[in-house]
Amino acid sequence: MTRGHRSARDLAQVGWQSYSRSSMPIGGNGPVVGALAALALACAAPSAHAGFGAPAAVPDPPPVLPLWLGGEAPALRYGRLDRSGCEAELTRRSVPFVAVDQARGVLAPVRLTGPLHGVTFRTGLPRAQRATSPWEIVDCRLALALDDFAMQLALHDVAQVIHFSVYRPPIQSWPAGKLASRHPGALAIDAGSFVKKDGTTLEVERDFHGHIGATTCGAGAGPDTASPQAIELRHIVCDAAASRLFNVMLTPDYNRPHRNHFHLEVTAGVKWFVVH
Ligand SMILES: [Zn+2]
Repeated sequence: MTRGHRSARDLAQVGWQSYSRSSMPIGGNGPVVGALAALALACAAPSAHAGFGAPAAVPDPPPVLPLWLGGEAPALRYGRLDRSGCEAELTRRSVPFVAVDQARGVLAPVRLTGPLHGVTFRTGLPRAQRATSPWEIVDCRLALALDDFAMQLALHDVAQVIHFSVYRPPIQSWPAGKLASRHPGALAIDAGSFVKKDGTTLEVERDFHGHIGATTCGAGAGPDTASPQAIELRHIVCDAAASRLFNVMLTPDYNRPHRNHFHLEVTAGVKWFVVH
């Protein structure tokens, strides 16, 4: 897919204008998102490149691809796809994948078999285990969002995203054929570190420098310690938020279980976004 360039500032402004109109969660929500709903307005992620308190020595971050320019947000469109339509889009994008016959609770299970725009999404498991690990099964709809995300990550010279898990199979008693959400639906990834081409890493636990209750993106938000790594991680999160790639993005600012990863989720059938 070919997309023209637009400056990060332009993108951030588009995001802010639309977010102001549409960030209130609506509809019936699960307990986690329900609890998040009240936070959504305060945590709306408008500006990807303003207000992080970057010291003068830190260079401007690279430009951001205009993944979302004010039409239907990517995450919303992906959430509506069925299996055949989604896999067709993966194929059209030349995303390397194999379909998985069946994974309980998952609409469109696939395994990514190579990098997306040069970025490999993987657990820390050895290669031989990765091929069969449930944690590496990804719903196709999340894979599309990760493909977009990878374009942004490539601009930061990220080569690998090491995650804790994507798919976590539902409980044994889960009814056959019933679709799940979040990790049991393979619709969320817990990304712990970003490995760059030069081997250096951005570790969420070490480098994010947030605190529980802090606003993650937008005016006045930013890392408690504005190290170059912290600022770059913040741009990674907030650019993805401004681009509407995921419905739910949870960081160490949210709660202690998220101290060491970003939870990035496509939530099928909703029209809201939460960033915290
Ligand atoms: Zn998660």
